[in-house]
Amino acid sequence: MANSTETPAERAHRTIHAGGEWLAASSGATRDILDPADALPFAVIAEGDEKDTDLAVAAARRAFDAGPWPHTPVAERAALLRRVADLLVRDREPLGLLESRDAGKTVEEGRVDIDCVADAFRYFADLVAGEAPGRVVDAGSPEIHSVVVHEPVGVCAMITPWNYPLLQASWKIAPALAAGNTLVIKPSEITPMTTVALIDLLVEAGLPAGVANIVTGPGHTVGARLAEHPDVDLVSFTGGLISGTKVAQAAAVTVKKVALELGGKNPNVVFADACETEEGFDTAVDQALNAAFIHSGQVCSAGGRLIIEESVRERFVAELARRAAKIRLGRGTEDGVECGPLVSEQQRAKTEDYVASALAEGAALRCGGKRPEPSPQRPQSGYFYEPTVLDHCHREMRVVREEVFGPVLTVETFRTEDEAVALANDTEYGLAGAVWTADAGRARRVAGRLRHGTVWINDFHPYLPQAEWGGFGKSGVGRELGPAGLAEYRESKHVYQNLAPKPVRWFAG
Ligand code: NAD
Repeated sequence: MANSTETPAERAHRTIHAGGEWLAASSGATRDILDPADALPFAVIAEGDEKDTDLAVAAARRAFDAGPWPHTPVAERAALLRRVADLLVRDREPLGLLESRDAGKTVEEGRVDIDCVADAFRYFADLVAGEAPGRVVDAGSPEIHSVVVHEPVGVCAMITPWNYPLLQASWKIAPALAAGNTLVIKPSEITPMTTVALIDLLVEAGLPAGVANIVTGPGHTVGARLAEHPDVDLVSFTGGLISGTKVAQAAAVTVKKVALELGGKNPNVVFADACETEEGFDTAVDQALNAAFIHSGQVCSAGGRLIIEESVRERFVAELARRAAKIRLGRGTEDGVECGPLVSEQQRAKTEDYVASALAEGAALRCGGKRPEPSPQRPQSGYFYEPTVLDHCHREMRVVREEVFGPVLTVETFRTEDEAVALANDTEYGLAGAVWTADAGRARRVAGRLRHGTVWINDFHPYLPQAEWGGFGKSGVGRELGPAGLAEYRESKHVYQNLAPKPVRWFAG
């Protein structure tokens, strides 16, 4: 057993935190964590399994049933969340760097992620601190006092992906703690490092032992056990459609509350009128580039489907491909690098497979479509892939229908507004989409018709902690962020008090 005052370096591979103790895996198994820029290990973690998961859930259960946290005054819970935000700001540099090495993003992206994580903690602190303790209901009689109050759900299991490891964790941990729950989190087995570090910050901020627990390990063991565990009351999952479906099936057996944030196939709709001025054209191209290629397209809301009005396609795509070919690929920690590698060999192989299938189905390659030449900034062993633009795509192609999660942009065209909307909505997902137009009326019309959880008008990618995030269709169930993101972690309780009780005489005898 380890002491929670150890430094992370002293702790080494004891990355399971249960009931306030840092532990190795009960089996003794470990896993190397690789830097995707060179495929070399830079850390070792515990490879937990079902037994470790049971231990962590038991700790969370005890902390919920007996502990002070669910009953801690809201102001104190909010103060703790704000302390966590301050600690995140203090540790912005090392955490940003760690996120960069773990997930392959640039250090600047890593820093921005940490800022957004701190914002999530502050937002949920402010939200709970500013709320009324309950909602009085008019029962229609002065002799009845009726109030609806909120209570925490209980033990919350959280399963997170590798693309925004700490950000996705914070969208779950911050509201869950604000609402008074206890939790067990399982980060992605390939990018666990910053989530482990966050547990240290929660401890430092004064969170009681057992309230926040972590089990590092694979999805098919730790994740699956969390989803089925009878002592878990809620499971919140962010990841792919296939794993999310398995989580929902396992959770159904014990009727857990389930929240799913799944994939997307996000349209970026560009009307010709958005490109009439040079400035408009430059902005729309620049943002289309950002939409598709930031973090090498490994973003759930990546704008990987450009749906553009036929009359401007040639000019737009030519400029887009010219700029995409100039994106500086390399190790995220190197100065001047604009885009890192893909997170794993598996992710690159998947991307290569999608590009090959698109070309076989008739797409035209405008740039990319291959691994870059190695360079001092881009070791041969890293998982790099060039930003790729595929022209002449259509909705029957696999690359247009399925989530690639790599630096691949497909181009489809339309002639009318109806056609644009039909294409943009022709997906089983519904996470996010954008419309670019200089016509305000058209912007509102199209935005109103898009079946996606977030719609941007003349922008791409921004989100606000105050506004709900989540998807229509197979992009998920439930919402994160905003008031609904807090409500996920709460039960409503109606307390009905009769101030003047009398017999009802329903039964005569
Ligand atoms: P993934 O589904 O492979 O893994 C996600 C998590 O689930 C990991 O921690 C993994 O270990 C775990 N897992 C895998 N199988 C499991 C099982 N049977 N039971 C329980 N847990 C299991 O996804 P990924 O490749 O890590 O992440 C990429 C996916 O995440 C993409 O589809 C992306 O769109 C999605 N994503 C969605 C959002 C959103 O907000 N909607 C945000 C980020 C990522």
